[in-house]
Amino acid sequence: MWIVEENAYQPIINIETFNKAQKILENRKHTRLRNREYLLKEITYCHNCGNKLTFITKREKYKDKKYERRYAICGTANKGKCIKQHNNYDKIEKEILDYIKKFAH
Ligand SMILES: [Zn+2]
Repeated sequence: MWIVEENAYQPIINIETFNKAQKILENRKHTRLRNREYLLKEITYCHNCGNKLTFITKREKYKDKKYERRYAICGTANKGKCIKQHNNYDKIEKEILDYIKKFAH
């Protein structure tokens, strides 16, 4: 089991889903993922409660420029059952991909 450290709140990637992630990574060479697709969907879990993380895209404005930021949040946070904290999705994805790549070679 691998834990992504993101502030105090840590999403988990299960080692059982490791192969799945690797497969996605291979497919990625051939098909370009659209911005809205979340590579880590179904394979990341909340460190606090163990539920699947859900992903959202937020539009943000900074100095008259518009950005789209992706976040990973706990699936039960909206029901008040867990910590409501937004994790930088792209950062987590990059960390996990880097980690997987180490094993792929
Ligand atoms: Zn949770």
